Amino acid sequence: MGLTGLAIFRLLPKTNCGECGVPTCMAFAMNLASGKATLSDCPHVSDAAKEALESATAPPIKLVKAGTGDNVLEMGDEQVLFRHDKTFYHPTGIFIEVADTDDVAAKVAEIDALKFERVGQTYVVDGVAIKGSAADSFKKAVEAAAAKTNKVLLLMSEDPAAMEAAAAVVADRKPILYAANADNCEKMVEIAKKINAPLVVKGKNLEDLVALVEKVVGLGYKELILDSGERETSKVLADLTQIRRQAIKKRFRPFGYPAIAFTTEEDPYLEALQAQVYVSKFASVVVMKHTDLASLLTLFSWRNNIYTDPQKPIAVQPGVYAIGAVTPDSPVYITTNFSLTYYTVATEVEATRLPSYLIAFDTDGLSVMTAWAGGKFIGETIGPWLKDSDINQKVNHKKLIIPGGVAAIKGKIEELSGWEVIVGPREASGIGSFAKLRLGA
Ligand code: SF4
Repeated sequence: MGLTGLAIFRLLPKTNCGECGVPTCMAFAMNLASGKATLSDCPHVSDAAKEALESATAPPIKLVKAGTGDNVLEMGDEQVLFRHDKTFYHPTGIFIEVADTDDVAAKVAEIDALKFERVGQTYVVDGVAIKGSAADSFKKAVEAAAAKTNKVLLLMSEDPAAMEAAAAVVADRKPILYAANADNCEKMVEIAKKINAPLVVKGKNLEDLVALVEKVVGLGYKELILDSGERETSKVLADLTQIRRQAIKKRFRPFGYPAIAFTTEEDPYLEALQAQVYVSKFASVVVMKHTDLASLLTLFSWRNNIYTDPQKPIAVQPGVYAIGAVTPDSPVYITTNFSLTYYTVATEVEATRLPSYLIAFDTDGLSVMTAWAGGKFIGETIGPWLKDSDINQKVNHKKLIIPGGVAAIKGKIEELSGWEVIVGPREASGIGSFAKLRLGA
C-alpha cells in the first residue's frame, strides 16, 4: 500500500518554498499520495527521505523498456484500470514468433515488411520473438534475425547456457529475455543484469509467480515482465486482469510490472481475436505466430482505439490538401480535421478521380456534427477563415462544397466569405454520385 499524504508530509522539508509548483509541502504531499505529482518535482527532498518515499510513491506498474535507438518499446507505467478513467499510455507491443528451425532470415524479412497505413497512422509489428530449440541453432537464429531487422528482439529459451550465448550476440540491442523460472532464475538474472535487459518471469500459476518475482527481486533485479504461465484464453484473461487489478488497486508490488501473453489459436483471424482480448486487458506484450495482413490490421486498429486518449480525438493538421493533380478549376470541399472524418472524405474524393482540394477545418479534432453543435464548424468561424485563406490564390472560382448535414451554415459562410456555397451530400459515401451529377466527374 502507498503512504498517506500525512505520512509523506512528515518526510518532506516543510519549508513551503513552492518550487514544486504548489504553495505548501502539505499540498505537494497530497498530490504525491494521489499520483498527481512525482517525487522529482521537489528538489529539496533529503536522500534518506527519497529512499523511503521512492518505493512508496513509485508508479503502480513499473516502466520497463526494451530495444534501442528508434526501436524502443516502453511497457507498463499504466495508472488506471479502465481507459475511460484517464488513458492508457503504452500500447501493447505486438511480436511475431520465429522458430530457430524456420528459415529465419526469410521470415524476419517478411515480418519487417509488414506495414499498414490507416487514417493517417502507420502500423508496424513491434518486435520479433526468436524461439530456440538448441543452443547452436538458437544463437545462429538470433544472429540471422538481428541482421535482418532493427525491431525489438525477444529471445525465448529457458536453457541458461543457450540464452547466455544468444544474448551476447545482441547485448547492445536490449532484447527481452524469456524466461526465468524456478529452476533457472539465478542464472537468468545474472545474464539479464549483464546486458541490462528486461527479463520475463514465468510462473506455473499466479501464486507461483508471486514467489518467483519476490525471489528475482531479492536477487537485485527489477526490470521484469510477468507471465502467469497460463495459455487458455479465458484463464490468461483472468490472470492478466488479476495482475493489473492487484497492482493498481492494492499496490501489490510483485504484480507491479508489465505482463506478457502468447496466442495459441491456429486460424489467423481467431489468433487476431485472441490477441485483441489480451490487448484490451491488459498485456503489455503479445507474442503471435501468423503474419496474415488482413487479420493483423484488425488487431492494430483495435489497439489504436484502446490506446487513444479518450479526451483527445485523433486529428490531422488543419489546412488545405490537394487530392490528385489539382488545377485552378478544381472543386473545393470542406470537412473537419477529425482524422476519421477527414480520411473518409479524402478517400471518397479521391475515388471520384476528379482532382480536388479538401479543406480540413480546425475543429480541435471534432467530427462535423459534433463540431457544428459545439460552434466550431459554423459560418461565423468558417466564413472569415475562408475569406483570408490561401485557397483564394489556388483556384479561379469561389465555390465551396460543404457537408449536407450542416446545410444551415451556407448563408453565413456566403455572407462572411464572399464565396458561393454548394451543399454536398450528407454522407461521405454520397460524394461519388454528387461529383458525377454536379461536377461532371
Ligand atoms: S518544493 Fe519541496 S520543500 Fe518546496 S514546497 Fe514543494 S515539497 Fe515543500
